[in-house]
Amino acid sequence: AEEVGGGDKEVVREYFNNNGFQRWKKIYGDTDEVNKVQLDIRIGHAKTVENVMKMLTDDGPLSGVTVCDAGCGTGCLSIPLAKEGAIVSASDISAAMVSEAEKQARDELLSGDGKLSPAPVLPKFEVKDLESLDGKYHTVVCLDVLIHYPQNKADAMIAHLASLAEKRLILSFAPKTFYYDTLKRIGELFPGPSKATRAYLHSEADVERALRKVGWKINKRGLTTTNFYFSKIFEAVPV
Ligand code: SAM
Repeated sequence: AEEVGGGDKEVVREYFNNNGFQRWKKIYGDTDEVNKVQLDIRIGHAKTVENVMKMLTDDGPLSGVTVCDAGCGTGCLSIPLAKEGAIVSASDISAAMVSEAEKQARDELLSGDGKLSPAPVLPKFEVKDLESLDGKYHTVVCLDVLIHYPQNKADAMIAHLASLAEKRLILSFAPKTFYYDTLKRIGELFPGPSKATRAYLHSEADVERALRKVGWKINKRGLTTTNFYFSKIFEAVPV
């Protein structure tokens, strides 16, 4: 499955509007209709969200801070950010993901249970691929999206996200380590029906180099691992 021209992005959009949407909505949800592997991924991803929320709040309160959540999926990060008072701009290439995120945000944030005070600002949701994002944000976050980018496109993607961020950029990606590379290769030998998109791993050094090139340096690092889920987290700041 070699990449053909700019076709990857169309394949990704199509996947996350259809089978991928159904699959990931389940994984990121809380119902028990998941298999063991999906449950493991759900737990791993929830830890990533938790780690990122900790990185962000350790730097200071999020109230009034503008945050761009690029590739927001079903809103797993956007919603807790809004609960902390951040002004969130959430976007995703998939219209199905964006409408699900908006629905979940409304359900969780506008429930009017009076527990959240002051009331959180509902994120602004948009269907947009991240290359089309513009504006400036205090913080830009992009979780588990780099897996859809081959390294030759990842550099430009990282440079673009950095150009939108004033103070902080958080990226998470599947690290290219020997162990994980092997696991992925085994997975490719036995592809399941729902693995419709190609997964790209990235070496920490490559991601770090891409950040350096545009004048950013890594300030904090994190790693989430479960049996089937691996995610390296970088918090970068301008040099
Ligand atoms: N960031 C979310 C989270 O961690 O809960 C979702 C992660 S999910 C594995 C990857 C998401 O990236 C999908 O919702 C997909 O539609 C989105 N995506 C992939 N390529 C994209 C692109 N070029 N621009 C914007 N979103 C993209």
